[in-house]
Amino acid sequence: MDGTVVVTGGSRGIGAAVVQALAARGIPVCFSYASRREAADVVAASAEDLGTRVKAVQADVSVEADVRRLFAEADEMGPLGGLVNNAGINAPQSSVVDLDADRIRRILDVNVVGAFLCAAEAVRRMTTRGGGTIVNVSSRAAVLGSPGEYVDYAASKAAVDVLTVGLAKEVAADGIRVAGVRPGLIRTDIHASAGEPGRVERLQRTVPMGRGGEAAEVAEAVVWLMSDAASYVTGATLDVSGGR
Ligand code: NAP
Repeated sequence: MDGTVVVTGGSRGIGAAVVQALAARGIPVCFSYASRREAADVVAASAEDLGTRVKAVQADVSVEADVRRLFAEADEMGPLGGLVNNAGINAPQSSVVDLDADRIRRILDVNVVGAFLCAAEAVRRMTTRGGGTIVNVSSRAAVLGSPGEYVDYAASKAAVDVLTVGLAKEVAADGIRVAGVRPGLIRTDIHASAGEPGRVERLQRTVPMGRGGEAAEVAEAVVWLMSDAASYVTGATLDVSGGR
């Protein structure tokens, strides 16, 4: 794979691990963050220490103007080779009957609308250039449904899986591959943000491998899907979940 890679939500968790893994392979990265500038600066500095060009851009993926600005910043680093649609949010555990419209809309705005907007910006550039790779970060929730926790989040990730299948078929003839990963229980801040910092520890007995996963383990799967080693993989989403 050549060219710059845009990673959304690169300031923490899985996105930060993807930025590190790409930088370690000498791939220039332009990554976004929502509001945590200090965390983004730390990720950028440690990726740059690996000798790669890295740029951090504040951009809310659910805001069209922000997404355009993010890709314009990436353009300044050279032609776009890849996109990792990673930015995502969750919300406190709730049954479906107690969900309100504002919460459902915000999750869909970031996780679904954001992924579509970024994919469109990427495809415009990759079509002109004659190829590229998009990896969408879904979740095992898309298959498990997350009953009693967050069916709205699970539904947003099911939509991401459909984006992977549909877009892959739309752009295959343009030399663009679209794939996905479905992480399981991964140790990141997202569980605390959704109100249960110890969620991975509580549920890890339900994982056949008996443990939660690390962000770096998801990042390695993403980087493989981005690479030429996955040259005949498109429309597929890989579970990275210890068997859960
Ligand atoms: P995280 O630790 O909470 O990090 C989220 C990242 O996304 C941060 O960089 C955050 O920026 C950014 N972000 C949040 N809202 C954004 C927005 N509106 N626009 C742009 N960036 C935004 O999450 P994570 O666990 O690494 O999750 C990454 C992806 O993996 C998500 O799509 C998530 O659904 C998926 N996933 C995670 C797990 C898991 O167990 N951790 C499992 C399955 C799927 P700031 O730092 O500025 O807030």
